[in-house]
Amino acid sequence: HAKQTGRARWVMFDQTMQLAAVRRLQLEADLRDALARQEFFLHFQPIVAPRDGRVRGFEALLRWRHPVHGLVPPAEFIPVMEETGMIDAVGAWVLDAACRQLRDWQRTYDPQLTMSVNVSAVQFTGEDLVGTVTRVLADTGIPPASLKLELTESAVMADAEHALAVFAALKALGVLVSLDDFGTGYSSLSYLRRLPIDTLKIDRSFVSKLDCFDDKRQIVEVVLMLARALGLDVVAEGVETEAELDLLRDMGSDLVQGYYYYRPLAPEDAARALAEQGQGAMC
Ligand code: C2E
Ligand code: MG
Ligand code: MG
Ligand code: MG
Repeated sequence: HAKQTGRARWVMFDQTMQLAAVRRLQLEADLRDALARQEFFLHFQPIVAPRDGRVRGFEALLRWRHPVHGLVPPAEFIPVMEETGMIDAVGAWVLDAACRQLRDWQRTYDPQLTMSVNVSAVQFTGEDLVGTVTRVLADTGIPPASLKLELTESAVMADAEHALAVFAALKALGVLVSLDDFGTGYSSLSYLRRLPIDTLKIDRSFVSKLDCFDDKRQIVEVVLMLARALGLDVVAEGVETEAELDLLRDMGSDLVQGYYYYRPLAPEDAARALAEQGQGAMC
């Protein structure tokens, strides 16, 4: 009897695995057509200065609307694109679309606005990144310093020597570099000092429920001190509550991003947010 249940369980497990494999293959096949079928689009999450509550820039976030399954979360499809190499073409599309959008908003609302674009570890290791950024800057004509490339701390530190070379080339173009999900990887302090980084983005895990845990508060304080010592800007990610915002503002975080102010927005909603805050603070 025991043997039978064991076998039944094994069969079930096997079927689940098969189902997962089939789904994964289907996902891969669907992704191959997604770019040509124009199923990708961008949402833009405002990055806000808590001092005056004004939008200083946006992070572009990739969205995929599958014709049958609807919206698929990036955490599900980006790893597949990385493994298959599709991320290079899609990443170039994201860069171009985000910079075009920025150019419009800079003209209409505020020439100081910035755009942050996520760059995957695979794009970062590949040969194309600097060339793609060069081309997009030329095509869109945005000021290079209004583009911020977000690389995760783990992607950068995985090959910090490579990062030194790529960052130098990006700096030569005039674009800015942010370390994303900061605090979740292992940063070498000496590389942090040597790499021409502009911004640390404190990972959401340190920001959420910040009001409840003393250790989180101390970690955020140390990151803010470190950033100050190295002359870097800080963005606190995933700010959801007023209590979190108050603490971050008191600790001196210049910029925040999170549901408390705005969720990632469709372009027309992001434009409305810009229109609502008006031209008041151009002084
Ligand atoms: P990320 O770069 O750290 O982006 C921030 C993520 O946190 C976004 O998730 C955003 O929607 C979410 N978020 C922002 N504020 C809050 C908040 O207050 N609470 C909570 N719970 N979440 C918040 P999203 O859009 O699902 O993207 C997930 C990840 O996928 C991104 O993390 C980034 O690593 C990756 N990704 C997104 N777009 C792109 C892209 O165009 N290229 C690449 N290579 N990766 C991308
Ligand atoms: Mg990011
Ligand atoms: Mg992040
Ligand atoms: Mg994150």
